[in-house]
Amino acid sequence: MKTYIVGNWKMNFTVGEASIYLHKLQKRLPNYRDVEVVVAAPSLSLQSLSLQIDRHKMKLGAQNAFYRDFGAFTGEISFEQLRGLVDYAIVGHSERRYIFGEDDKTIQKKVAASVRNKITPILCIGETESERAFGETADVIRDQLTGGLADVSEEDIEKVIIAYEPVWAISSTKAAKLASPDDVSDAVKLIRDSLADIYGKKTAENIAVLFGGSVNPSNAGAYLTVPGVSGLLIGGASLILGEFADIIDTAKRVRA
Ligand code: PEP
Repeated sequence: MKTYIVGNWKMNFTVGEASIYLHKLQKRLPNYRDVEVVVAAPSLSLQSLSLQIDRHKMKLGAQNAFYRDFGAFTGEISFEQLRGLVDYAIVGHSERRYIFGEDDKTIQKKVAASVRNKITPILCIGETESERAFGETADVIRDQLTGGLADVSEEDIEKVIIAYEPVWAISSTKAAKLASPDDVSDAVKLIRDSLADIYGKKTAENIAVLFGGSVNPSNAGAYLTVPGVSGLLIGGASLILGEFADIIDTAKRVRA
C-alpha cells in the first residue's frame, strides 16, 4: 500500500500564496512514487492549482463539498463540480462536525457523493476530549465509522480512506495534547477490526487508515511506524513548506 501524506491547508493562503507554495513544493520534491502527497487547498484555489499541479509528484484535494450534484444550494460546491479538479476530498473533519454542525447522516451522504463522483473521500473520525474522558472513544469511533460508511458498498470501500483524528490532539484545539503511538495503535486497531467486521478481513487490510493530530517533522516517523497506519493528515505543519517537505521525506525514509 502507498503511504499517504495529506496536507490540510484549511482557510489559509490567498490564491496567489497557494500557487507560490505549490510551485516551491514541486521544485523541492523528488518524485516519490510510493508516497502519495496530497494538498487539500481552499476551494477558491482549486481551479488554478489543478492547472499548475504536477500530478506525478502530488495530488489535489478539496476540504469539503456538498452531497447534492447541482441545484439551489447557495454558497455550496458539489463533488460533481469538483470532478476532474481534485482526486481527494476531506469529509467529516472535526471542524465541519463541531463548528458547522455536520452529523453522521450528512457525512454519510458526502462520502457517497464523493465516491459516486470518483473522488476519494478521506473520512475523518475521532473522539473529543470529553468523550475520551468518559471512556467513549471506542463507541465514537465505531459510530462515526459505520455512520460515514453506511452507503459504501464492498466494491467501493477500497476507494475510501479513513483518517483517525482525535479532536483533543488537533493543534487548533485549545490545550491540544499529543497522542502517544499507543493511543494511535489502539484506535487504528479498532478501526481496522470494525472495517473487517463490515467488509471482511482481506478487504479491510487494503483500506488506508491515516493518523492526524499535531504531526510535525519530529514526531512523524514515530506515528508512521505504528502498525496499521498508512499515512498522515497534517494541518498546521502543512502550512510551513519546509516542515511539510520534511515530513514527506520522513515518510519516504521510514516506509521504504
Ligand atoms: C487537522 O486539522 O486535520 C490536523 C490534523 O491539524 P494539526 O496537524 O494542526 O493538528
